[in-house]
Amino acid sequence: MNVYDSQRMADVLKPLGFADTDSPDGAELILINTCHIREKAAEKLFSELGRYRQIKEGRASAGARTLIAVAGCVAQAEGEEILRRAPFVDIVVGPQTYHRLPEMVSRLGVERTAQIDLDFAPEAKFDQLPVNEARGSTAFLSIQEGCDKFCTFCVVPYTRGAEYSRPLADVVAEARGLAMGGVREITLLGQNVNAYHGDAGGRSAHFAELIRRVAEIDGIERIRYTTSHPIDMDDDLIAAHGDVPQLMPFLHLPVQSGSDSMLQRMNRHHKIDLYRAIVEKLLRARPDLKLSTDFIVGFPGETDEEFQATLSFANEMGFVQAYSFKYSARPGTPAAILPGQLSEAVKSERLAALQQILEANQLAFNEACVDRVLPILFDRPGRKPGQMIGRSPYMQPVHAMVPDHAFGSILDVRIVSARPISLGGELSAPIANADRSVIQRGASA
Ligand code: SAH
Ligand code: SF4
Repeated sequence: MNVYDSQRMADVLKPLGFADTDSPDGAELILINTCHIREKAAEKLFSELGRYRQIKEGRASAGARTLIAVAGCVAQAEGEEILRRAPFVDIVVGPQTYHRLPEMVSRLGVERTAQIDLDFAPEAKFDQLPVNEARGSTAFLSIQEGCDKFCTFCVVPYTRGAEYSRPLADVVAEARGLAMGGVREITLLGQNVNAYHGDAGGRSAHFAELIRRVAEIDGIERIRYTTSHPIDMDDDLIAAHGDVPQLMPFLHLPVQSGSDSMLQRMNRHHKIDLYRAIVEKLLRARPDLKLSTDFIVGFPGETDEEFQATLSFANEMGFVQAYSFKYSARPGTPAAILPGQLSEAVKSERLAALQQILEANQLAFNEACVDRVLPILFDRPGRKPGQMIGRSPYMQPVHAMVPDHAFGSILDVRIVSARPISLGGELSAPIANADRSVIQRGASA
């Protein structure tokens, strides 16, 4: 989400003559896009701002002006506090109003007083953003923002606001434009992407319908989505996993905890058996589907039994990838003031135990890929001359020697080596020898 927002902020500023630069040192505008979801985001921001202040002052003594802008969720949460603690900041803009950045930058040319805009207006933002131009063969497409679920640990409903879905036609038009610009793989984005319910001419379109519409677009060979919530995994969406061949057999479905009592205190709206049932249905629809997830350890009051339930669930599900986090209290969220906050030591110990299982599962899956032929979308140069890095259907980075003209193509690659988070491969014979399980409609592995 943040990468997408950063790209869109660069897009809105282009008409004013701004272009990306690799280093902040000579920049006329330094824009910091922040995330507030975990850890001490605000403190990190202020220490980073200290560094940019020096650049600003250095450039000022040489007669050059530097604008400093803070965007994203920390901007939304901290607001005026940013200007109080860092008065050299020129712009504070929330995640829903960054389409107004050009106006704010222009006004600074005249008024020279800090600009602050923290409205919640996602509808207006999407209507006013410039075209989302293709930047390569993969692209993010934001379809939904905000969240109404209020998990007790999470700051998103407060910083991103209420759930909002873009109209179906707007999303399809944006996807079509990306495909025409050469994009082969689209990742549909939202804080709660599968809760999508965009307007479709007076009725509400569901997420599975949107996926089917995007899959009809010529050139779109891969579709992914993130982040989904188990409660919104409806039967239509599960069926789409079976019959939309472009939908990749890899799903990020956060579970957070393996314990019912913990899920209840987190306000996750479901029990662990519902997660199991969804996965069973998904595997029936798409037997080669693999899962990734998110876990939080050390939520206030987490008992040994509750934590053990998480460990055994991680073992049982064999997630092929996972993000795991120590609970961090987010100011303003209900869990931040719960009794039973756990010590850092306990959280670290639990995280290490969980990660041991998750890493072993990931490595086992990577090793099981050796000798398979997988279709790889090559989209980044590798470190060695002649080498490129691509993504497997399961999002594993795959390193292989590939001719330059293949950049942006999907090629069959025989996997020859496995590492904890990446694979090595060699170009394989044409598609006839490919592992059909990942390219055929609903085929079994
Ligand atoms: N909408 C998604 C999650 C978005 S936030 C969902 O419902 O699952 C991304 C991840 O950050 C979450 O899945 C969670 O694991 C983690 N996270 C969010 N708040 C956190 C907190 N206070 N402490 C630790 N991890 C947190
Ligand atoms: Fe946060 Fe996801 Fe829960 Fe919404 S559903 S409150 S984004 S964790």
